[in-house]
Amino acid sequence: MASKFWKVKCKKCGNVQVIFSHATREVVCTGCGAVLVEPTGGKAHLVEGEIVEEYD
Ligand SMILES: [Zn+2]
Repeated sequence: MASKFWKVKCKKCGNVQVIFSHATREVVCTGCGAVLVEPTGGKAHLVEGEIVEEYD
């Protein structure tokens, strides 16, 4: 599966940020510090984040 960028919205505070779909580390919300995604070795697993848009 191709790598993409995701626009991810934090379920806790509503902050939106753009992250790499195959993140190799946890990505935390810049607004509240919640873990948005965690690495899996492939496509990142969504934790408190939800995808609102995808970019190639
Ligand atoms: Zn947040």
